[in-house]
Amino acid sequence: MNKQTATKNLDEIITKVEGARLRISEHHIVKIIGISKYSTAADVKTLYEAGQRAFGENKVQDLKQKMEELDELPLEWHFVGSLQKNKINNLIDLNPTLIQSLDSLDLALELNKKLEAKNKKLSALLQINSAYEDTKSGVMPEVALEVYKQIIKLCPNIILKGVMSIGAHVEDEKIIKESFKTTKKIFDEVVPFGAKYCSMGMSSDFELAIASGSNMIRVGSTLFKD
Ligand SMILES: *Cc1c(COP(=O)(O)O)cnc(C)c1O
Repeated sequence: MNKQTATKNLDEIITKVEGARLRISEHHIVKIIGISKYSTAADVKTLYEAGQRAFGENKVQDLKQKMEELDELPLEWHFVGSLQKNKINNLIDLNPTLIQSLDSLDLALELNKKLEAKNKKLSALLQINSAYEDTKSGVMPEVALEVYKQIIKLCPNIILKGVMSIGAHVEDEKIIKESFKTTKKIFDEVVPFGAKYCSMGMSSDFELAIASGSNMIRVGSTLFKD
């Protein structure tokens, strides 16, 4: 990807985000995370030069590789993939800005234990399976509030900052919107407990997600397209 393409891709996304967020309120700020999992470190660097600062990966090994390769740039890195227990220590050592995919109380307890042992803290979002899809990770909406409170109570080394969801994998916009609304409702319930981010929306549905209240989108394919 060349600089011109990177600037064009980013500008197109920013224009759409601006339109969508202003339809909510001029005070509604949306953070854009570039998901670089299908792309190279060189492409991340090009997008950084075009103005993008926050990126995300879904595999611990890929995150490590890109972070190391781009060590000299002031980037912010997010982890968005399913976290295997045997990779927890590696992820902690990378000190990501935000783990967006904390998808069970069990995983939170394990992460907390390993953070305690290293005397570290990490910020995370609770992933919610608001589309009720077997192929997706996350806690079910019905128990999300309770799990959120349990993590706050039992995991002092995890700083919970909100919720994350992947929209329903269907064509019907109404169903996708329904899944976003489910997550937004839970987000509103956890704001009193310090939640700041409602992370939802990917390349195909980020405008719909913002219309449903998202304030953090994760865009991969449209941002990195050639
Ligand atoms: C890959 C991925 C994205 C980005 O997907 P695109 O459709 O390419 O924008 C966002 N969130 C998660 C959790 C992902 O794994």
